[in-house]
Amino acid sequence: MDASNRPPAEMLLKSERQYREEICRFGKMLHERGFVAATDGNLSVRLADGNILVTPTGMCKSMMEADDMVVVDLHGRQISGRRGVTSEIGMHLLVYRLRPDINAVVHAHPPTATGFAACGQPLDQPLVSEIVVALGCVPLAKYATPGTPELADALEPLVPDYDAILMANHGVVAYAEELEKAYMKMETVEHFAKISVVCQTLGTPQLLDDAEVGKLLLARQKYAGVTSNAPMAPKNGHRNGVATRPLRSFGDAFRESKRLVYSAVSLFFASARLITHYRR
Ligand SMILES: [Zn+2]
Repeated sequence: MDASNRPPAEMLLKSERQYREEICRFGKMLHERGFVAATDGNLSVRLADGNILVTPTGMCKSMMEADDMVVVDLHGRQISGRRGVTSEIGMHLLVYRLRPDINAVVHAHPPTATGFAACGQPLDQPLVSEIVVALGCVPLAKYATPGTPELADALEPLVPDYDAILMANHGVVAYAEELEKAYMKMETVEHFAKISVVCQTLGTPQLLDDAEVGKLLLARQKYAGVTSNAPMAPKNGHRNGVATRPLRSFGDAFRESKRLVYSAVSLFFASARLITHYRR
């Protein structure tokens, strides 16, 4: 492992035993908060020697014990553990390979955020200042079968720029420099999704403008120590398979208005033709 891949000094102070216990603790919290059901979800930590400590396959996240964890290398080869490794290990390994700054990954299916993922909607609107600071945009990766290389391919373009990603028709993956922060990001994603639902239910959300978002992004780098960009307009996010971005300028608004007027005029002429047809 080269210097850039080495975990920070505070990570090295913890023993593998402590990481095993931390995984049990945050696994329990995922289950208690309803972010996973039955045996869903998985958590992992990058150890000081570069290997990955990860949850086993087929276990409820609230019933795990420290000795249930599995250790694999960065290629997914099992090094120790009496149980088999989670089938979704490929997603974890991808994050560790692409992000040397990341030492913990959490994957879950929190119901509201997963609902957005199942409706093809990223969480990309600057609705709440503290969420912009703590998380930024949560883009949507296109659908791929869980546990396959195709899922890693779908995530790959997004992992360098974001700290949490929605996976279409599947769930959420969040990651950070330590497990507690990765877990907190998962909570923030679900909170963001719940607030988005309330905004959509009440009416037209009043989005923060570019200037205000810019100030918050500066604050994020300064105070929260987040290194990824996570811009609110997703660079590679997809909504129903089509790259999208919110209306951000007069030009965007003008083009959208033109499209709506064109649709209304087309609808008017189609109705007129229909009426003429039935009057004959
Ligand atoms: Zn999953």
